Amino acid sequence: MPSRILKTRAVVLRTRRMGETSKLVTLYSEDEGKFKATAKGARKPKSKFGGALELMTEVQVVCYLRDERDLQTLSDCDALRSFPALLTDLERLSFGSAACELIDRLTVERDPNRRLYRCLSGVLVGLEEVEPAQVEPLFWYFQLRAAEALGYRPELGYCTSCREVLAGEWLWFSAPMGGGLCARCGPAAGGIRVAGNSLRLLAGLQALTAYRPEAMPPAPARRGEIRSMLRGFLECHGGQYSHLKSLDFLESTATK
Ligand SMILES: [Zn+2]
Repeated sequence: MPSRILKTRAVVLRTRRMGETSKLVTLYSEDEGKFKATAKGARKPKSKFGGALELMTEVQVVCYLRDERDLQTLSDCDALRSFPALLTDLERLSFGSAACELIDRLTVERDPNRRLYRCLSGVLVGLEEVEPAQVEPLFWYFQLRAAEALGYRPELGYCTSCREVLAGEWLWFSAPMGGGLCARCGPAAGGIRVAGNSLRLLAGLQALTAYRPEAMPPAPARRGEIRSMLRGFLECHGGQYSHLKSLDFLESTATK
């Protein structure tokens, strides 16, 4: 029965109660990718896990990894970073939860991707510090970066059909075609018609080499079509990806 000790950083993607005193957690770890583990006694008042195993917390975990098992057992866990500002602001909380949900849905277990891990821990840090108007653009930046880390980068600078530079007031976007289309190719490709500025805003975010709070633009008026492009793209290329429940609240209240 092969087993080894895994010591790694991880973000808590999901938690649920297990039995009287334990927790079942889904972690996205730097070294092992996603895995599920039980934390025995984690809900007892004097548990060695303390309050570390909460949604969105970045932790250092130790566990005995058994390759033949789907469910691992945590032997130790320390909180490295928690994000208190996310818990007191509904919009930031929704996007932080959505980032965790998205990583959970886009990944399979035990398939490490350090770049994706950095995207996730980075967006949680960013959600704490950006200005309110930049919260959603930061989430768009995260979606673009996550898609790239998973190997399916949307083309936003050139028409995916004729390779012309994407300029003009109105453009098109087709998830199956892999990105933007010019006004001539778009209608035949069956994508959605979007403002050129919406597509160019995403292209600008994609071109950023690193996250910097001051580089995040404020959210524009036409955010509905930007959401549709990103959601459609990830649904199309992410396989098992589906509706992000965490965003339902925002979508029902925010201006389109
Ligand atoms: Zn074209």
